Amino acid sequence: MKSSFNFFIDFNSLFSLFKDLSSYYGYMYWWPAEKPLEVVEGAILAQNTTWKNAEASVKRLNNIPIDELLKIDEREFRTLIKEAGFYSRKIDYLRNAISFYSNEIDNTPSFISIRDELLKIRGIGRETADSIALYAFNQRTFPVDSYSIRFFNRYFSLNLGLKNYDDIRVTLSGIFNSMMLMEFHALIVEHSKNYCRKKPNCENCFLKEKCGNQ
Ligand code: SF4
Repeated sequence: MKSSFNFFIDFNSLFSLFKDLSSYYGYMYWWPAEKPLEVVEGAILAQNTTWKNAEASVKRLNNIPIDELLKIDEREFRTLIKEAGFYSRKIDYLRNAISFYSNEIDNTPSFISIRDELLKIRGIGRETADSIALYAFNQRTFPVDSYSIRFFNRYFSLNLGLKNYDDIRVTLSGIFNSMMLMEFHALIVEHSKNYCRKKPNCENCFLKEKCGNQ
């Protein structure tokens, strides 16, 4: 019977899963951003679209100094982010996030939760805040996306949903350091694209002997 989530997955099981994924896929270094601001921009531009669609826009913004970015008018911004869609909304969110980043990067002591501060900004939800806090500010947190929920449900035979977002995040960030959290997230996304898709390819999956879905 599938268990409801009450985070019981112990350190050993999670660590062993991390090791299995890492041994198979190697080091992912999934978000090779040249600078942390690129992560902030990417997290917003990738909302409601694919990373592939967001990538060209991120590269374009990346060439513009931060003080100039904050002065760009709406028309120019639309051209710069044309592949990412949802222009008006994303321009608004980007301006908020870039302004936050420019104020906080030099001023925020590391003990303050960047995640909590990000969540106060309009347009930044939990997954975006956690992506930015983890990948741009190196803070211990985990962006719980649909890939990780689906994968944990199958592998650990659970019945998780978005209601369990903070259970998953807090548990994982209590166990792994920030570098491992970045890797774990990337490995789960990679595995979910290669094998644990909507229609899973269990027959060829290297985790099948250990997976609760079998
Ligand atoms: S065995 Fe199937 S369900 Fe389990 S992790 Fe692999 S692809 Fe996903």
